[in-house]
Amino acid sequence: MKQIISIYALACCGLLNPLVAAENTKALTPLDRLMQGNQRYVNSTTVCHEDWTAKRTAVSAEQKPFAVIIACSDSRVPPEIVFDQALGDLFVVRIAGNVVDDFAVGSIEYGVNILGANLIVVLGHSNCGAVSAALYGKKFDNHIQEVITAIQPAIESIKGASGNLLEKATKANIVAVAKKLKTSKPLLSKLVEQGKVTIIGGYYELDSGKVEYLEKF
Ligand SMILES: [Zn+2]
Repeated sequence: MKQIISIYALACCGLLNPLVAAENTKALTPLDRLMQGNQRYVNSTTVCHEDWTAKRTAVSAEQKPFAVIIACSDSRVPPEIVFDQALGDLFVVRIAGNVVDDFAVGSIEYGVNILGANLIVVLGHSNCGAVSAALYGKKFDNHIQEVITAIQPAIESIKGASGNLLEKATKANIVAVAKKLKTSKPLLSKLVEQGKVTIIGGYYELDSGKVEYLEKF
């Protein structure tokens, strides 16, 4: 029984015999794979975080991640866990407030152009400290301020809104970052225009573990 579960786990993670793994994941889009993985995580039925020795061996020669994730550095939102994906599946960039600078964009470009991922997810989350600091006008006399300043346009965009302002600001920031990537020249804008890369915003709910998808480009 244990062996059956273990084979199933490897197949789900795309790490069994490459041909069998291809069969198992061929019909699924990258977004489907993330959604299914997130559902397993929500249900506490994850399959991608066992038998590390086999997984290390399977990907040690090369990596072919199927998605690039730009996530907040928050310790409660690790993409490989919340999407239940294995070593080699996700190319991850993490910066507080899931904002992007030139280094981040360069990393994202590497993930899609060199490694071949065709989905980019900008992943924000509920109760984000960075967005909260920007929303409530906190000031810092160090580099934290640069993160806050990068989030500021999203705060401006929800001026006059009512309801859960932190959630609205966080979602506005996710969409703003996704749009920034979509228009990033010379590479990402071209790949999106050619339909070779899709960019989507995701909002992770800390309590439920569920990722809600926002705008898609
Ligand atoms: Zn955060």
